[in-house]
Amino acid sequence: MKFGGTSVADPPAVRRIRGLIRDRLGKRPAIVVSALSGVTDALYRLCEMCMNGSEREITELVSSIRDRHMNMVHELISAPEYSLPAEEDVEKICGELELLSLSACHLGELSDRTKAKIISCGEYLSSRIIHRYLNAERIRTAFADARKMIITDDEILKGNPDMDAICSSVPATLREAGEDCDAVITQGFVSSDSHGHATVLGRGGSDYTASMIGMAINAEEIEIWTDVDGVHTSDPRKVKGTRSLSHISFEEAAEMAHFGAKVLHPSTIEPAIRKNIPIKVLNSMKPEASGTTILQDSYAISSGAKSISCKENIIVINIFSTKMINTFGFLNKVFEIFGKYHVPVDLISTSEANVSITLENNGKLDEIVRELSGFAEIRVENDKAQISVIGKEVTNIKGMFRKIFGSLLDYKIYMISQGASGINISFVIDRNKLHEIMNILHKELFENEGSN
Ligand code: ADP
Ligand code: ASP
Ligand code: MG
Repeated sequence: MKFGGTSVADPPAVRRIRGLIRDRLGKRPAIVVSALSGVTDALYRLCEMCMNGSEREITELVSSIRDRHMNMVHELISAPEYSLPAEEDVEKICGELELLSLSACHLGELSDRTKAKIISCGEYLSSRIIHRYLNAERIRTAFADARKMIITDDEILKGNPDMDAICSSVPATLREAGEDCDAVITQGFVSSDSHGHATVLGRGGSDYTASMIGMAINAEEIEIWTDVDGVHTSDPRKVKGTRSLSHISFEEAAEMAHFGAKVLHPSTIEPAIRKNIPIKVLNSMKPEASGTTILQDSYAISSGAKSISCKENIIVINIFSTKMINTFGFLNKVFEIFGKYHVPVDLISTSEANVSITLENNGKLDEIVRELSGFAEIRVENDKAQISVIGKEVTNIKGMFRKIFGSLLDYKIYMISQGASGINISFVIDRNKLHEIMNILHKELFENEGSN
């Protein structure tokens, strides 16, 4: 069971998840928690302050984080045998947080390792408090450190997991932690390299932690508890009238997440596919709703458009050259440069005279453009967004392209691409038209349709 930031945001939210956990105690759940909603953002701000802020600002921010967690302890736990250790946990973690950030500020240097330690504190705070709270509520829960289980390479801020190491360390750590307990709680997002030094999985990584733990213990299912009742036909925060999808395939979910649906971290599906474990996306504020089940493609999965994902901030790089632009050698040279800077390319379209590539900015743009300029003329467009229509066999369905682009005749469409998997049609638009287009398209594709 994984609980995201909004599912543990405040004392009422944590009381709600207590009931959900209690209902599943017969299955000895492994519980993964995120930081309280907004805390990881605050920790990233703290990292910026280490470089550009003052000691006073750092102390104030740490103090507000400490207060929020102390208040949670006081509101949730009354018995001193549980509340006092919880207070000590908060004090200790916030003390370390303050020390780390003030040291970085003094030195004027924040290493990736220190940053990983700072941004991991949110998950340690929430998991320690919820662990004490569940025990105070007579739910016998053990505490396990995710750094002993989720082993990555040395990409400190976006570690690539070592699945073999994880498959052996997770069962052993959970067993050791929770021999005579009914549940074990651990942190999402945090990880370590093979020497035990802190790494993290990247923003939104707690979903990924949950699916890796599910894979390693051969779980019956992986439950992702969040603030929406499943995967919807589009992001309900951006589009009116979305509805929850009852079943989607692993491939559809992976593609939706990869193309921007924040409801799942893009890598969440892969560990579940390895062991064919269904993932359920459920709403912790509305647990009676059936949510979405993500499973192997089968008769239960219908063909057709299921969802519209988007990436709000993409960059289009147009590469012009008079020489052999469409040849293998030329494209290889281009991809080598993107590979060198670890920048994944999203869409690519080629024509006689140019190659266009979309990517999300990861801060390496200047270096990439400099290298490309060595052998081609480059034009960068920053004001674009990308939309993807996703669903089984969507590229093969007669009339689908007409339906999508016929409804958007009044708008500029820049690059159209269909994934090799046949389950996505993606295109680029002007960013200032994103919300308008998402709503028009959603109406066109999903209004007046029966449920999936
Ligand atoms: P958590 O903190 O539980 O991990 P997130 O904020 O990371 O939650 O993800 C949930 C959010 O994902 C929703 O509130 C919604 O705005 C967004 N979202 C984006 N695309 C979709 C989609 N297709 N279906 C449902 N939610 C989506
Ligand atoms: N707390 C981390 C983040 O906000 C991880 C997560 O919530 O999944 O990115
Ligand atoms: Mg999330």
